[in-house]
Amino acid sequence: MVTDISSHRRAGVPHISAQEIVSTARKMGAVNAKVIQSHTIFLGNWTRLKCQFGCPHFGRTFTCPTFTPTTQEMSDILLDYEKAVVVEAKQAADVHRLVLALETHFREMGFNKAFALGAQPCNLCDVCTVETHCEHPDKARPTLQGCSVDISRTLMQIGWNDAAKPEPCSGQQTVGMVLID
Ligand code: SF4
Repeated sequence: MVTDISSHRRAGVPHISAQEIVSTARKMGAVNAKVIQSHTIFLGNWTRLKCQFGCPHFGRTFTCPTFTPTTQEMSDILLDYEKAVVVEAKQAADVHRLVLALETHFREMGFNKAFALGAQPCNLCDVCTVETHCEHPDKARPTLQGCSVDISRTLMQIGWNDAAKPEPCSGQQTVGMVLID
C-alpha cells in the first residue's frame, strides 16, 4: 500500500504525493521505494551497542556514533518529520548518491527540512578528519543505524523482508532513507 499524504497539506508547505516521491526515487535509480509515516520508524537503544562493540568507525567517523544523535534525540527529531521515503539501491555503493540526490531534489522543491540517512559510514575521505572539521559537510550524512534506526524491524513492517536481512552498515546493506516534511 502506498500511503496517501495529500491529506496532510499545511499552509506554506509544498505538496508532493507519495506516488510522486516513489516515482522520483525510481527515476533517480532506486529499485524499490516506499513512503512511510515517520512515527512508524522503529528506534532502538541497542543499536548503539552494535556500533560501539565491533565497528571500527565508532568515535572515528563523523557520520557514526559518538557524533550522531542519541536514541532520545532521534526520537525527538522524528517528531519534526511527517514522513520518510525508504529507498533500496541496486548495490550498497549507490545508496549515498541516491539519498543525497533525493534530499537535494526535495530541498529544491521547498522541503527545506529534507534530510538523508545512509547505509554505510562515510567514506568520502581516506581518513575522516572529524577531530578538526568535516571536509564535505554538504555530502556527509549519518547512517541509519548510527541514528538508532532499527532497520530490520522497520523494513519487515513494510514487507521488505529480503532487504531487512543484511547486517546494518555492511557491504550488503542497500537501503537508505530521506526524511521529509
Ligand atoms: S566527508 Fe570526510 S570528514 Fe566528513 S564525515 Fe565523511 S570522511 Fe569524515
